[in-house]
Amino acid sequence: MKKILVLEDEDNIRSFVVINLRRSGFEPIEADCGTAALEKLKQNPDICLALLDVMLPDIDGFEVCRRIRAQGLKIGIIMLTAKSQEIDKVTGLMTGADDYITKPFSPAELTARVDALIRRLGVDDDDQKPVELKSGPFVLNTRNRTLEKNNQRLKLTQIEYLLMKLFMENPGKAMSREDILSAVWGNSFNGELKTVDVNIRRLRMKIEDDPTEPEFLTTVWGYGYKWGY
Ligand code: CA
Repeated sequence: MKKILVLEDEDNIRSFVVINLRRSGFEPIEADCGTAALEKLKQNPDICLALLDVMLPDIDGFEVCRRIRAQGLKIGIIMLTAKSQEIDKVTGLMTGADDYITKPFSPAELTARVDALIRRLGVDDDDQKPVELKSGPFVLNTRNRTLEKNNQRLKLTQIEYLLMKLFMENPGKAMSREDILSAVWGNSFNGELKTVDVNIRRLRMKIEDDPTEPEFLTTVWGYGYKWGY
């Protein structure tokens, strides 16, 4: 799961970003000031992208950006700027940011920008694998994150997509609910195992001919689930 640093001092904006990143299958690492952000980067060298707010209580977001680049880190950087800070975009791009998002932004805009930058940086670990995973009537496209059944596009949430990807990459393998939880939601997610069941139930409604008699995504009693096709 890709780690994304979220530097934002306003709690409500930070949790908005964190929730939406998590929903899209990322693992957010939070920081509420510039020094904390640099510290988190040191602790998590596998962070692939940083979202940096500009106005902060200690050092500003541009300075954080400058210091990240000074360390030679090639992670993606997106500045979060306020509408009135038109000039910030220029400053941000000059200090080494890759992109900027103007506040307020929608969840869709946020994930679109993050996805686009990750693709551009080529850090997407899907790149080395085949773009299409096929299994029975299903075709999962990992580039545009879509699923088709008998050539019909099925509408999946990001979590459902990640579940399908996990199962289709491990055909016939019994997966425990703990494994599924950590693979899809990330290790830092303190969710309940019931989360897995709820999402599997919803996914079955979309992919199974008869969700009460699942044929593809089968239950392994007392353990978890299996892609049985
Ligand atoms: Ca701020």
